[in-house]
Amino acid sequence: MNYATIKYNDIANGTGVRVSLFVSGCTHHCKGCFNAEAWDFDYGEPFTRAVEENILAALDHGYVDGLSLLGGEPMEPAHQRALLPFLKEVKRRFPDKTIWCYTGYLLDAELLDENGRAHTDATRELVGLLDVVVDGRFEEDKKDIRLRFRGSSNQRIIDVPASLQAGEVKLKEWGDYQ
Ligand code: SF4
Repeated sequence: MNYATIKYNDIANGTGVRVSLFVSGCTHHCKGCFNAEAWDFDYGEPFTRAVEENILAALDHGYVDGLSLLGGEPMEPAHQRALLPFLKEVKRRFPDKTIWCYTGYLLDAELLDENGRAHTDATRELVGLLDVVVDGRFEEDKKDIRLRFRGSSNQRIIDVPASLQAGEVKLKEWGDYQ
């Protein structure tokens, strides 16, 4: 897996101050995409153990609330397998920090469903390590710059633990962000 960039003090992609990893490669090709150079799976630099350690070190500060995964598409099947051991290590070292993941795939229909387009043998375990998923392709005609943490109004901000427990998608309440 390659990655395009890492932001070490990101306040735009999730609650609080976050370390944000932008992976390379996305097959959705949404019209009006904000990050089209990262559609190429070879864009950027290899996601090596040294890069992982840099992120883990950056997370090891009290003012950092957690890690956000963006792209590109973090949930492309090949990326899921690359991210799983890394996210396990993030959760092992920092159980109280949150992990957000932005994906164009729908959590219920395309990821968790065994017949879903991006379901793999790693999906359920990977999703189980996430706290929040912002899902859905970017839809230019639903773009709204007033929206917090998402680009278009079709996208959902999902409470992952609550959804897994309920067996259906549960959205984060707006009050969760205050
Ligand atoms: S899913 Fe995200 S990165 Fe991929 S094309 Fe759509 S907006 Fe761009």
